[in-house]
Amino acid sequence: MRFYSTNYRAPRTDFFTAVLTGQAPDRGLYMPERIPVIAKADFRKFSGAPYYEAANFVLRMFLDGITDEELLAKCKKAYSFWPRLEKAGGRKYLLWLDTGPTASFKDFAAQMMSPLMGHKLKAGEKLFILTATSGDTGSAIANAFHNIPNIEIIILFPINEVTPNQRKQMTTLGGNVKTIAINGKFDDCQAMVKEAFADKRLKLNLSSANSINIARLIPQSVYYLWAYTQLVTDMGEEVIFSIPSGNFGDMMGAVLAWKMGLPIKKIIVATNANDEFPAFMKTGIYKKIEPSRRCISNAMNVGHPSNLTRLIDVFGGRMDEKGNLRKAPDMEKMRAFIHAVSVSDEETRKCIADTYKKEAIVLEPHGAVAWYALGKFLKEHKEENKTLCISLETANPAKFPEEITRILGISPAVPESLAKLDKLKENYIKMNADYESFYKYLQGRR
Ligand SMILES: *Cc1c(COP(=O)(O)O)cnc(C)c1O
Repeated sequence: MRFYSTNYRAPRTDFFTAVLTGQAPDRGLYMPERIPVIAKADFRKFSGAPYYEAANFVLRMFLDGITDEELLAKCKKAYSFWPRLEKAGGRKYLLWLDTGPTASFKDFAAQMMSPLMGHKLKAGEKLFILTATSGDTGSAIANAFHNIPNIEIIILFPINEVTPNQRKQMTTLGGNVKTIAINGKFDDCQAMVKEAFADKRLKLNLSSANSINIARLIPQSVYYLWAYTQLVTDMGEEVIFSIPSGNFGDMMGAVLAWKMGLPIKKIIVATNANDEFPAFMKTGIYKKIEPSRRCISNAMNVGHPSNLTRLIDVFGGRMDEKGNLRKAPDMEKMRAFIHAVSVSDEETRKCIADTYKKEAIVLEPHGAVAWYALGKFLKEHKEENKTLCISLETANPAKFPEEITRILGISPAVPESLAKLDKLKENYIKMNADYESFYKYLQGRR
């Protein structure tokens, strides 16, 4: 299987080259040149099977350059945790993706990407992964790369912009995970990382692990396939997924699953007040939101989703890396498959309060955006009230204790992965937002 760039000016490449390159040389995003359709008999095998087997099956269709035994071993090791389905009235379910080591859905992609990145490194070769983070991504990446041989991970975070819990999730690992608290903002961290990538003086083997990496995208299709096959044995039943969306990596996973033959009737793309995509679906005109709007579902505060290019590509259009629409996608087809909704903070809070009252379920702000959007959709489309609906919960409520306590008056139960943090020792250095200091630090790591 080969991978092409959505800008169509870079050579096609194999999976592992695409993984280590990240963004294609023409600044496009890699996509698989065809999406294999899974036979019904194979779908049925997922039912009741361990999660890692479904992951192994899906990845096997896309990856060359790794043996069956190696891939299966990596999947088994990555997925010691599984998603959890919770019934929430009628034919509606919540898919909890907070069961990984950092209690966010990003674990499902990051835990798989890290061994895949390490796979092609030769003995004695060292890869440095630089990441700037404002919170959740950094911790998911740090946990995923911890103890991966030949890889050192260097994370820059703004000292005053991450919560103590987020910080501890990155700084208590030690070993090959190096953390630097920058005396500045997230933008400073990002600028320093960008400058390092452009610095010809540095003779280090550098890479990034950001959300557009194809090794993060493909694993995100697995939980859609897996969840459906746990609930349905006859492959005929259609399903609606509601997805809380920011950079659209998660929702692109659903699009891949649909292309693989999962009978998805519709996906609901639920955004917070950053409504550039719902507006585009309405008008056909795309306008980024700059700067992005601050909402309580902060991991979704995105004014231009980095994976939107891929969605446009799937529907026959073209969008460049700056967000300019070069060729319109088939809007009619897109509207038939995707229902896009923007949900305000007020609606999100109301949803958290109502769901607790009605179902005794504690939602967190990201999942609540999707759950609210689904409820609204079903009110407007009574004919869908018997359709199987699955709404994604992308983080554990205990990651947002202040907000939950304010809304519900209770503090959310803390999962083991977060509870143990307070007992661990933190280890990080502090640095000013000054590139030369960072340069010297990197030189010292050779
Ligand atoms: C990153 C994140 C999202 C958004 O996912 P995208 O793939 O960027 O659309 C939603 N919820 C949580 C908790 C996240 O961390």
